[in-house]
Amino acid sequence: MNKVENSNTEENKKSLNFIEAIVEKDLKEGKNDGRVQTRFPPEPNGYLHIGHAKAICIDFGIAERYNGVCNLRFDDTNPIKEDAEYVEAIKDNIHWLGFEWGEIFHASDYFQQLWDFAVKLIKEGKAYIDEQSAEEIAKQKGTTTKSGTNSPYRDRPIEENLALFEKMNSGDLPEGSMVLRAKIDMAAANMHLRDPLIYRIIHTPHHMTGTTWKAYPMYDFAHGQCDYFEGVTHSICTLEFDVHRPLYDWFIDQLADSDYRPHQYEFNRLNLTYTMMSKRRLLELVEKKLVSGWDDPRMPTLAGLKRRGYTPASIRNFIDRIGYTKYDGMIDLALLEHSIREDLNAKTARVSGVLDPIKLIITNYPEDKTEKMVTVNNPEDDTMGIREISFTKELYIERDDFMEDAPKKYFRLTPGNETRLKSAYIVKCTGCKKDEKGNVVEVYAEYDPLTKSGMPDSGRKVKGTIHWISVHHSINTEVRLYDRLFTVEDPANAKDKDLKELINPDSLKVLNNCKVEECLKDAQPGDSFQFQRIGYFNVDIDSTPDKLVFNRTVPLRDSWAKKK
Ligand code: ATP
Ligand code: MG
Repeated sequence: MNKVENSNTEENKKSLNFIEAIVEKDLKEGKNDGRVQTRFPPEPNGYLHIGHAKAICIDFGIAERYNGVCNLRFDDTNPIKEDAEYVEAIKDNIHWLGFEWGEIFHASDYFQQLWDFAVKLIKEGKAYIDEQSAEEIAKQKGTTTKSGTNSPYRDRPIEENLALFEKMNSGDLPEGSMVLRAKIDMAAANMHLRDPLIYRIIHTPHHMTGTTWKAYPMYDFAHGQCDYFEGVTHSICTLEFDVHRPLYDWFIDQLADSDYRPHQYEFNRLNLTYTMMSKRRLLELVEKKLVSGWDDPRMPTLAGLKRRGYTPASIRNFIDRIGYTKYDGMIDLALLEHSIREDLNAKTARVSGVLDPIKLIITNYPEDKTEKMVTVNNPEDDTMGIREISFTKELYIERDDFMEDAPKKYFRLTPGNETRLKSAYIVKCTGCKKDEKGNVVEVYAEYDPLTKSGMPDSGRKVKGTIHWISVHHSINTEVRLYDRLFTVEDPANAKDKDLKELINPDSLKVLNNCKVEECLKDAQPGDSFQFQRIGYFNVDIDSTPDKLVFNRTVPLRDSWAKKK
């Protein structure tokens, strides 16, 4: 694909996606007076999810790259499902991802213009009021191989249509008693052109317009016209709208009084394994309390991912990697996890966290001695510096870093074996103490003072290195371990299944007795760390001054890859 002359060199290295290629071609041909205008059009009926991030990145990304503008438009044509809470959350999410909109619009801003356009269609004999039930209308629709049949109301006189349309909006008629339909072609090959519904009656008050309207435009009737009113040049949406495009163009043709036309382009939506992406289903998870809320760290919502410790950069890199195409597919969740690991690897300090602690006593170490060991904060980034950690006689280590009867290849603590305590000494395990039930309660080892980390190599070969925390320099924390929310690879395809049956019962494990280094005591919600050898963790908003709560963002390695 061609490279662009006017974009910066960094971006030049990458080939264009097909939408960028279209925009560049349009610019070259001088279309739209050289203007690029996009919009991101969420329906405020739920929180944004990772799929929306894909739409956000292309809508805002195109505007940014070509000196255009991307407006935020709330597609609020259905008052029943919409809420102001969602509007605020959507704005937060977009800013969090690092994008800025030009203006904020609402489809409801155009209710009067849309109404006037509908009246124009009626007056031109291109729309009529149908009093049949939804079922009757559906029956007349025909099939892909068979034409539809005309409604008995199709040739209603214009004056009657105008009067009934007014009545639809009066509040006197029950919902579903009549609809306004465009009069196009009941034999059209494209089913969407078979006299589509354009207005219906809804009595629920609207979050923006209150009780002003009782007749509301359908999505298909509103969307393209809003694009037109705003001056959108490239209206980018997902592939399922491909079949709606002829209708989009038909409406615009009836409306346009100049050469200007917004154009719709479709890309493949994001589907992720083990992830459900429909707002309706996500709402169900929230309402049935199967998760703690829209921002439960297991949710694929941007609010959930943020709380889980995902960074905007990791999400944008992920979206960049998967790209934009014209065919649907399924993306492996492991790729998203790879993106966050990559970002946190570069940015986070390495600290010690012990999830399942057991005491290790260094029997030949002085009782009241404390040594300061020096450790590098992030081997990937020298600018993050070094810090001191306290080493004492009593340490916490992970329970599974000790094994009494270990197999041959076990290089950690087992009686007789030598192991390095990271950034400290080589120790030789000498045994353990057990309670009356046979559970190990303490592990013993002896250290060799000549093996202090940083000292000239003693020539000793030790295969295992484990992490540790001085008991008297540790703080107690809660750690929440998350795993994928669903057990099935494609939960979106299990529409008829009860959500409860699809949920992974191990998707949340709460550990209450974890230890972290005391240097974390002032960590703030959102701060991320690498607990060395374990994974990336961030401080949850549930933390209190007395007790930190950590979320596991992602383990260091993909544990599922091994299980396969
Ligand atoms: P849902 O079915 O999850 O509610 P939606 O398409 O109804 O999604 P909208 O609020 O209408 O949600 O979507 C706003 C924009 O985000 C639309 O342009 C839509 O095509 C896009 N979008 C929604 N889901 C995805 C996805 N999984 N991948 C890419 N884009 C998406
Ligand atoms: Mg929608």
